[in-house]
Amino acid sequence: MPASSAAILEQPLTVLWGVGPERAACLAQLGLHTVGELLLHRPRRYEDRRQYRPIRALVAGEPALTGGRVVAAGIKRWKHGTRSLFEVILEDGTGRLHCRWWNLPYLEGQFQPGDELVVFGKVRSLKPATMDHPDTEIVEGGEERSIHIGRIVPVYPLTAGLTQRVLRRLVWQALALAGPHVSDPWPPVTAATGLTRARALQLLHFPEQDGDAETARQRLALDEFFELQLVLQRRRRALQTRATALPCAGDNRWIRPFLAGLGFALTAAQTRVLREIRADLAGPHPMRRLLQGDVGSGKTVVAACAALMALESGYDVAFMAPTEVLAAQQFERFRAWFAPLGIPVALRTGSRKTGTGGPEPPGLFGGASAPTLTVGTHALLEPGYDPERLGLVIIDEQHKFGVAQREQLVRKGHYPHLLVMTATPIPRTLGLTLYGDLDVSVIDALPAGRGSLRTFVRSADRLPKVWAFVRDQLARGRQAFIVYPRVEDADPAAGAKAVLAEFERLQTALAPHRLGLLHGRLSPEEKERVMADFRANRLGALVSTSVVEVGVDVPNANVMVIENAEQFGLAQLHQLRGRVARSPHPAYCILVAAAKTPEARERLRVLETTTDGFRIAEADLRLRGPGELLGQAQSGLPAFRFGDLGSDLVLVEQARVLAREWVEREAAENGASPAPAEARSA
Ligand code: ADP
Ligand code: MG
Repeated sequence: MPASSAAILEQPLTVLWGVGPERAACLAQLGLHTVGELLLHRPRRYEDRRQYRPIRALVAGEPALTGGRVVAAGIKRWKHGTRSLFEVILEDGTGRLHCRWWNLPYLEGQFQPGDELVVFGKVRSLKPATMDHPDTEIVEGGEERSIHIGRIVPVYPLTAGLTQRVLRRLVWQALALAGPHVSDPWPPVTAATGLTRARALQLLHFPEQDGDAETARQRLALDEFFELQLVLQRRRRALQTRATALPCAGDNRWIRPFLAGLGFALTAAQTRVLREIRADLAGPHPMRRLLQGDVGSGKTVVAACAALMALESGYDVAFMAPTEVLAAQQFERFRAWFAPLGIPVALRTGSRKTGTGGPEPPGLFGGASAPTLTVGTHALLEPGYDPERLGLVIIDEQHKFGVAQREQLVRKGHYPHLLVMTATPIPRTLGLTLYGDLDVSVIDALPAGRGSLRTFVRSADRLPKVWAFVRDQLARGRQAFIVYPRVEDADPAAGAKAVLAEFERLQTALAPHRLGLLHGRLSPEEKERVMADFRANRLGALVSTSVVEVGVDVPNANVMVIENAEQFGLAQLHQLRGRVARSPHPAYCILVAAAKTPEARERLRVLETTTDGFRIAEADLRLRGPGELLGQAQSGLPAFRFGDLGSDLVLVEQARVLAREWVEREAAENGASPAPAEARSA
């Protein structure tokens, strides 16, 4: 009975010729246990061994494929035989080549005068022509094609005890044994690329022409992206078929006076996004929308308008923020905006559950409470919060939450609308991967009237000048943020300054101005008191950890100093400096890098040269990978073997289209109606 295809791929590597327990242990070091895993071992690079050169045409310093007849072979030993040099001289009619191997005495006897040899290696010198440790192959009359010579060969990640030759031979064997049993998990990918997975693996390891290896990688990456998009598209489809949207578009009775009293006009970008949101809130399916806008682009006002639409329609709204500081700030803002309209606003955090800002508490009139906006932290996820008619969930700084938390809040209602907001400008590859089930709106322009923001990278020895500058700004009535990477000096060797120790020092350096201290270990009341003092300009500078990173809005603050800036990601630094470009005053961000880190200083210069959040996020994605860019909450991101979120935008988009078509077809086969055109084009 022939084993099933899956079983063949799951066989241990010891089924391959030349793999015993010892070699299997080496391979296990690379995470390779089965034949199938070996087939997925991705070459690190390739060597082109197709161009055969006569010995006379060799060029010093260049790798080359050449060969000839062995005219002499011999070994020299010294140091009591512990050292050796084995040398073979080849002759091809145009010249002679010396091939040398150090301390590999077993090679003696493997080559005899008269043997025809093909060799590949780097030409060490020309007089005489010499190669050290070339790859060799004895040319035999047999039919078997050469694995190592005369082709483009793979070069793999290795581990101790393995050589390229051995691994290459094992992969060759594995392809012959199991290649035909590799099946295509996603037929649309095969159809779209015209390449089976089996063929792609063959070309990945042994490309036949230039470009084959990259074609193969893309084919395999597409499988990975497709699988992920399928999950997202199925989730989206399920929502559309199961849920009817609550009518939340409102009637303008509160939005109109709200906008009139705002003190500024919405930007064109804000207005456009609001139109998209209103169409969703009036549409047949619950809204699932991601609102992206760089720091300071004015997402909160947009959220307020969306909330008003739902409130006007008689539904409750939940607004979740990642920190108590931010929740308290947004609560105050919404209360100031909504109280004059008579709309109750409540706050719910771990430490505080306040009444509403409206004129009458909910439930006063026989149970039917007025529709309420509740602002809160994760505390909204807990059982105590049970809105009666949840129409809209808004999540601020979405990248600080995981998808699970977002869904948990949504489940408090009956398919409420969902608006998630983020200021981390997410490169489109990542956006489609993480938020592929969401429609995306972008606020792509900042409100007018913002002062300029200039960023400077400085080394720590310039700090006295920095403090003099800060003192000068404070004397003019401006305010400053001063940020440190840590709360306490747990490990001074780590080289990161801690906010507690520096606070003392800054009291002197910035005297006579008053300073506030803010970090995650303060009680919520203390945090709020400090923030209130800072907001009211009773404090000149706020000395803090990166808790001020998200959302904090104090327009009078125009200076941001970040010490040990090299310890932060670029996107995070961009967030931080976004705190200070919020008024017509010129704003300054000073990134102070430890003197010892010139490379880190180079990295920081990206921030000196651009304020475009998307470019910064892309740089961060390339430099530090998606985990760093997105933070812990998004670590659910799968690790791709072949896909690269830094550069595979075209593939991610293709996978998304293919997955969407596939899900449509699935639905049609199950007798469901097709998704609406508006969803297809999103
Ligand atoms: P973010 O998008 O980072 O959350 P905010 O919503 O906190 O930004 O807005 C930043 C600042 O810009 C706030 O003080 C807000 O009142 C102000 N703002 C928002 N929209 C406009 C606008 N259209 N014109 C002028 N100022 C605006
Ligand atoms: Mg915000």
